Order: sequence, then structure tokens, then C-alpha cells
Amino acid sequence: MIEMEPVIGLEIHAQLKTATKLFCSCPVARGDEPNSHICEICSGQPGALPRLNARAVELAARAGLALGAEVNEISIFSRKNYFYPDLPNGFQTSQLDPPICQGGGLAIENQTGGKFIRLNRIHLEDDAGKCLHDEQRGQTLVDLNRAGTPLIEIVTEPDLASSAQAVEFIKKLHEILVHLEVTEGRLEEGEFRCDVNISLRPAGAAYLTTRAEIKNLNSFRHVGQAIEYEIERQTGLYDQGQPVIQETRLFDPARQETRSLRSKEEAHDYRYFTQPDLPPVVVTPARLAALRAALPPLPGQIRSRLLAQGLTGEQAAVLLDRRQAVEYFDLASQIFDQPGRLAALMTELLLPACQRDNISPLEARLTPATLAGLARLMADNTLSRRAAYDLFPELWEKGGDPAALARARGVTQVSDAGAIAALAAEIIAAHPAEVQNYRAGQTKILSFLVGQLMRRSQGAANPKLAGEVLTKMLNE
Ligand code: ADP
Ligand code: MG
Ligand code: ZN
Repeated sequence: MIEMEPVIGLEIHAQLKTATKLFCSCPVARGDEPNSHICEICSGQPGALPRLNARAVELAARAGLALGAEVNEISIFSRKNYFYPDLPNGFQTSQLDPPICQGGGLAIENQTGGKFIRLNRIHLEDDAGKCLHDEQRGQTLVDLNRAGTPLIEIVTEPDLASSAQAVEFIKKLHEILVHLEVTEGRLEEGEFRCDVNISLRPAGAAYLTTRAEIKNLNSFRHVGQAIEYEIERQTGLYDQGQPVIQETRLFDPARQETRSLRSKEEAHDYRYFTQPDLPPVVVTPARLAALRAALPPLPGQIRSRLLAQGLTGEQAAVLLDRRQAVEYFDLASQIFDQPGRLAALMTELLLPACQRDNISPLEARLTPATLAGLARLMADNTLSRRAAYDLFPELWEKGGDPAALARARGVTQVSDAGAIAALAAEIIAAHPAEVQNYRAGQTKILSFLVGQLMRRSQGAANPKLAGEVLTKMLNE
């Protein structure tokens, strides 16, 4: 039997983070009364004329810039004609040729090293409404609140060769688009959804074979599972000498399988034609240059920078994963420049507290200045790690000056060499036998003596300094 390899291309729909819809001024809102955010434009009334949302164009261009695509100076909206009750116009307003962005791509890392996944295009389009099937009344109701919501569709070349690669690609794409605030990207809300195109071909072949398309996956896990299932299903077909049919399928997470929905339509079935109600979309070179200049550093660049500052890969990943965490970290490290110590405090104390209380770091009473202060007290040995961690809950509740709190609680560490020398002299005087043994070469006894000193100071002495002072006095 010939060995087959999977060939996968993705089409990702991301809802753009705009206040209003793509062609009217209705708000983009979720969870409200059905049909409470509609107007003559987004409900498809005859004669209503669309007006393009400039912000949506900017966000699409921004996505293209971040992904190394070419942003076209002129792109065109077309009507993609089909009938469905949630599509009041009878067509989706989309872009066929040329789309707003072409080319570009994203590098992923897999076991065999890096791989570059090329993008075919990014285009703008509007979302449809929703049909609500009311089983009790035996009716289907239509809610058009979502109709006209701005989307970008990102289409890859068929460069992906496994479920792991596909999942890594969409996670990375999601991270970038959320970071750039192109989309809010809430998967469970359908703000980021993925169609998977998949076929099998003889390993190493340069041609493409018939594919199936699995529509509307809205979790990373489901993308992986649907691909695994399809690889097995199509392998089974080839093994039995049966053809793969070009069709649209749905993934059923409960049964972990894909099911045929309909045979796939071809582009010409949609009778695409230029949308006569909209002028071409223009992104002037000057506008594009301004958008490029305003592009913030990408997650990959921030990760490299954090690693260069001395953070571990895991710390960098945690900071990048939480909203505002990198901003908070940067503010704190401008005040006190010990990034590793700050990152440890953030990942071990601050971010878990944020998550528990469901707030973002910059909303916390414990400000970057307070965290920097706490780190400074640890660095100069005024606070032991233990004491710092004990103070944290109160600082989290009230904020304020950690040095003042430490003094009020009497937990500052004694790091005054004179005070420690006095304690050390007491300990040496109180343990003549141990001292003699130490001086006879049993240097392990040092830790016993340090322990005695710590106990005498009721834990307040700086243990490192205590060890140093004792060693020095014992060797005099
Ligand atoms: P359509 O818009 O009809 O779905 P496209 O030609 O625009 O078709 O391709 C859509 C996606 O399908 C792209 O991501 C492309 O890479 C992918 N694709 C095309 N042919 C194949 C194939 N034979 N196997 C896997 N993926 C494919
Ligand atoms: Mg498709
Ligand atoms: Zn509207």
C-alpha cells in the first residue's frame, strides 16, 4: 500500500474588534434581545445603502502587516449570492478579487524544526444573523443582531501536514490577533472560528487530491480532533479503493466524528459579482505607513525580549498569556530593575491573585510600584522570601508601601552586620564544644551554629549574613 500524507489548509474567521457593524452604525453587541441592534442596512431592506466602517479596514490591514502580507491599495467588495433565512440581503458582502491582503505567512516550530505556513489571502466580509430553532413551538426564529458584524477571513495555502501543526498554527495566529486587538478572539463566543480543508495524497507528491472541508470549529482541541478523525476516515476510503467526495462536513464533539453536511459548492455557484453599492476600498500608501508605524511589538518579539531580560521560557509564556501582564511587568521593572525577581513574584503571587479575583493586573491595588518595592526589600535582604510572601495578601488587599508594612509587622530581617556579630559572639560563647570541633575541622557544625543564631534572633536575622559572620569569627 502506498503511504499517504495529510494536506491541510485552514480558513479562519476572526470577528473584528469594532464598536459598530461593517456597513452601518448598529453596535456589535452580544446577548441582547433578538433584533434589538438592527437597521435598514443590516436587515437588508430594499434601497438601503451600506457605508464602510473605516476601523474594520484598519484592523484588517493591521492583521496583514503583522502577518507579513501585502496590503492592497485598492480592494473590491463582491456579492456572494446564496439563500438562507439568516442572510437578509440574499448575499454575503465579501471580497473575491482583489482582497485587502495577499500573501504573507507565519512560522511555526514543530518537532522537525521550523516551518513556514504561507497565507493565500485575508479578506473582509460581513457575518450572517442566527437562526434559533424553537423545538417547543416547532418554529425557526431569526435574530439579525449579528448580521453585518465585521469579519476577516484568513486563508492559508495547504502547507500544514498534521493536526499538531494545524493546532499550533491557529494558536499562534490567535495569540497575534488578540495581542494586536484585531479581535477579542473569544472562541466560545464564535469570535474566532476555523474551517479545516483536508485531503490525503501519496507521500511526497506535488499535486493535490480531493478534499473535505470541516466547517466552523470553535475550539483548538476540536480542530485537532476533527483532523485526526478525517485522516482516519479518508485513509479508510483509500484503503477500500473508494473516492473521497468533495463535501462540507461538520464535527460532532460528542461522538468525535465528522458528518457530511452537503456536497461542496464551487465559487461559480455563488455568482460572485462586484457589489455595486460600495466603492473600492482604498488604503493609501500614507495610511499604510501610519498603520505600520503604529504596529506594536508582536508576541514573538516580546518573548525574545523577556528571555533576554533573564526570564525563563515559562515565565515569559505566563506573562504573555495574561492581559496587561507584560505592561505591568515593564512598569515594575522600570522602577526596580531585577526582572527575574519581579517575574517570580508575578507568576507565583500576583497573577494567581488576579485570576482568583478576576481582575487584570493594572486594576490591582497592588501597583507595579508596590511590587517593585517588595522585590527591592527582598533583594537587599530586608525581607526574607518567607516574610515577603507572608506580607503579600495584605498588600494585595490594600496596596501601599511594603517597607512600612514590614516595619509595622516587625518582620524586617536583621541585616545589620554589627547586630549579627553581637548575636554570633553570644552563640560562640554558649557552645564551646561545638566551636572546638568546628575548629578541629568539622565544618558541618556551621549550619548548627547558624540555626542557633537564627533561633536566638527569633528568625529575624539574615541567614546568609549570619553564616558569613559566624564563619569569619570561627576562623579568627
Ligand atoms: P474554497 O474557498 O472553495 O473553500 P479555496 O481554493 O479558496 O476554496 O481553498 C480554501 C482552503 O482549502 C485553503 O486553505 C486551501 O489551502 C485549502 N485547500 C485547497 N485544496 C486543498 C486540498 N486538496 N487539500 C487540502 N486543503 C486544500
Ligand atoms: Mg472554504
Ligand atoms: Zn444596522
